Amino acid sequence: MKLKVLGSSSAGNCYVLDNGNEALILEAGVAFAKVKKALGFNLRKVAGCLITHQHNDHAKYIRNVVECGITTLALPEVWTAKQIESSRAVAVQPYKGYKLGRFKVLPFPACHDVPCVGYHIIHPDCGRMLFLTDSCDCLQIFPQLNHLLIECNYSTFNLLEAVNKGYTLKSQIERLPNSHMELDTCKRVIREHDLTDVQEIVLLHLSAHNSDREHFISEIERHTGKVVYAASPGLTIDITKY
Ligand SMILES: [Zn+2]
Ligand SMILES: [Zn+2]
Repeated sequence: MKLKVLGSSSAGNCYVLDNGNEALILEAGVAFAKVKKALGFNLRKVAGCLITHQHNDHAKYIRNVVECGITTLALPEVWTAKQIESSRAVAVQPYKGYKLGRFKVLPFPACHDVPCVGYHIIHPDCGRMLFLTDSCDCLQIFPQLNHLLIECNYSTFNLLEAVNKGYTLKSQIERLPNSHMELDTCKRVIREHDLTDVQEIVLLHLSAHNSDREHFISEIERHTGKVVYAASPGLTIDITKY
């Protein structure tokens, strides 16, 4: 099973889990033509698509996904905001389990400035995965994870520096702590989990101005002793369970 990153920032988010004959799309914030290409133009293998929330960097192309006949899971607020009604549009309830092919999916509440969920994903080929983005915290602990995909959007240090230099609006000092995950929170959330079976940690949705990619990777590596990646378009990781 491979994880392909098509986008992981406010410019657009999309990831594909693909074992060659079964695939799951995470988010629809990247042009659907690029998603099709990443899937080798084989949409029949797609078991479904998961959407975390309505912001365009995660859901701009949700209509294209649904119109291709792909079962898509999102909160009811997302379907209302995007004015989509379709038998392929599934309104999810947090803590209710869903099956998409051999993927077992559990949405859980995230902490963002609009209704948002994270997803716990299980597949026999990759084991257990946590997928959490656009969330200033993680309210539950998941046991026996094999893969951790978690937002690490900014650090307070980088944010204040970017505000001082005029790269970032001052209002973000108020907004970000309640909507996106800070480096120290990310460290705490990771530490709260049992990392014994975790094969790698993938940091998501790094801010262009308020983060430091190399520093974030080395900090989390030092903190966990695990292999750490920062997601960016083109990154492919083998996530087959050991
Ligand atoms: Zn976002
Ligand atoms: Zn968002």
